[in-house]
Amino acid sequence: MTETPQGITHTSDLLTFEDDTGSPRVLEMTLERLRRVELALRQSQLRLARAQKAAGMGSWEWNVQTGEVFWSDELFRLCGLNRDDHQQIQLEWVFGLVNPADLPAFKKVIFTAATSGQPFDLVYRIISSPGEEIVVNCRGEVECDADGRTLLVSGTTLDITARIRAESEIRQLSNYDALTGLPNRSLLHDRLMLTIAQAARDQQLVGVLFLDLDRFKTINDALGHRVGDKLLKAVARRLTACIRESDTLACLGGDEFVAVLAGVNCAEGITVAARKILMLISEPVYIDGQEIYTSGSIGIAVYPMDGDDSYTLLKHADLAMYQAKEMERNNFQFFSSEMNIKVLERMLLENSMRKALEREEFFLVYQPQVDARSGRITGMEALLRWQHPDLGLLAPDKFISLAEETGFIIPIGEWALQNACRQNKAWQDQGLPAVRVAVNLSAKQFGQYNLDEMIAATLMETGLEPEWLELEITESAIMKNAEHTAIILRKLKKMGISLAIDDFGTGYSSLAYLKHFPISRLKIDRSFVRDITTNPDDAAIAEIIIAMAQTLKLSVIAEGVETRDQMELLSFNNCVEMQGYLFSRPVPAEQFALLLRDGLKY
Ligand code: C2E
Ligand code: MG
Ligand code: MG
Repeated sequence: MTETPQGITHTSDLLTFEDDTGSPRVLEMTLERLRRVELALRQSQLRLARAQKAAGMGSWEWNVQTGEVFWSDELFRLCGLNRDDHQQIQLEWVFGLVNPADLPAFKKVIFTAATSGQPFDLVYRIISSPGEEIVVNCRGEVECDADGRTLLVSGTTLDITARIRAESEIRQLSNYDALTGLPNRSLLHDRLMLTIAQAARDQQLVGVLFLDLDRFKTINDALGHRVGDKLLKAVARRLTACIRESDTLACLGGDEFVAVLAGVNCAEGITVAARKILMLISEPVYIDGQEIYTSGSIGIAVYPMDGDDSYTLLKHADLAMYQAKEMERNNFQFFSSEMNIKVLERMLLENSMRKALEREEFFLVYQPQVDARSGRITGMEALLRWQHPDLGLLAPDKFISLAEETGFIIPIGEWALQNACRQNKAWQDQGLPAVRVAVNLSAKQFGQYNLDEMIAATLMETGLEPEWLELEITESAIMKNAEHTAIILRKLKKMGISLAIDDFGTGYSSLAYLKHFPISRLKIDRSFVRDITTNPDDAAIAEIIIAMAQTLKLSVIAEGVETRDQMELLSFNNCVEMQGYLFSRPVPAEQFALLLRDGLKY
């Protein structure tokens, strides 16, 4: 190594070069050329930096072999960082800057690039300073050595925050109502379409509620647009608070709002929502010290009954809204008259149910359970009937589900149990053959906190021995709150009451649960019995249930036996007890007493 006049240390290459020519002039020229190259390089770096700055673009490199990361000045600037604070950076440090939600995607592309050599293009967010974020578009490429090993992953990072913001503002303008900030008609159609598709998959209903404020124009004219606008905003806020997250609330401009209720199981659910909305709307709004009263009219269309696309449903909800407006204020109407009648019927039924118990409109009928070998009556099922003052005699399928929804099933169920026990005891006291009485319990009744005490008290009061009482529960009722139900059932079993699984085979049919509950009897559902002589599948299911009951040492009874052929096939498969129209329909108490006295004729 020698010292040049400029004091620059040269490598031996250069010395060799100098030695070869032996001329100081050549040295001078070489140095000059070097200086020019250096200057050009610096200028080009500056130009690049200026260009990067203007474009909001940084560049970077990751040396896969050493793990070191290089960042351009602009990239530091973009991220709100000072290069001097970060001399030696590694990939882990970079990960720390990425928004945690985007980190998995970021790691995935960068590691995939390193291992597979694939270029990538990713948009993600960088936390630029506490509470601030920038959105960047990062593109990367891979450099490999002659053996195909990855040496370097490098690329550019472009700040696209402003563009994204502009795009989202455009989206906001084209998809949302400017005054209320709610989705507008165009976004409503998108959302409604998605909701319909989901409902079709889940076989559920979608309620489309079209709401129009009553007298809004009058308020607007009398109090001015400013007040009108504030009123609409207040209404929008109230509605937003009352719908679920999965629902959509839209404003179609003016005073028209649409609520889309997703994943509804029955018209009742939609009715409840409509009532709630009307109630919220009719509460006074205070604007600039003024109390403003308004009300609304709602038209309802329901997927799939009233249409299966968003345009038809909206049109029908709109039409129904006009119908509602023609009636009294603060009202709702379904598009289909069928729906309106259903809702009305239910409301009437609910009101009359309130009074039915005290008016003694309920009564029990009894259906014999028979030992098919001897023809002897071994038990009876007590079944509820309602003699409705206007609608005539109602079977349970017309009112049990409503009673369950409204909670009336608790007093009604208690009434049924008391009467069945009292009746059975009375027959025994009259000297008729003692048989057990089966009473149905609904799932809701297990929510009654003192169910076991209530049953114990009923037995005490009526004087019926527990061995003559059986309770029928469906599989789904048991599974609804399995732990709690198991505790109660064990208490009942301890009292000496027997328990039967009703409609067996239609619910979970999980064998595992049978062991956990103290069950005495399975009732083969009548849907299997119906086709037992014609459908081999049903015959096989019945056969399996019977065999299983035998293994588990449970009694078994077949429901809904209507023909002699069914009876014979069941008997052949070792099912002894049966219940069905073949032996007797459910009959009123007086008639059942005769059956007990004289025996069955079938
Ligand atoms: P379930 O407990 O499965 O009752 C048997 C139903 O099958 C009864 O209908 C009975 O009339 C009917 N049935 C009996 N034999 C035959 C037959 O050979 N063929 C046909 N097709 N049907 C037959 P019902 O009385 O209409 O009761 C329907 C359901 O209502 C009952 O089904 C039970 O789940 C419920 N239910 C009845 N009474 C009460 C009650 O007091 N409390 C509760 N929670 N539910 C009750
Ligand atoms: Mg039953
Ligand atoms: Mg049944």
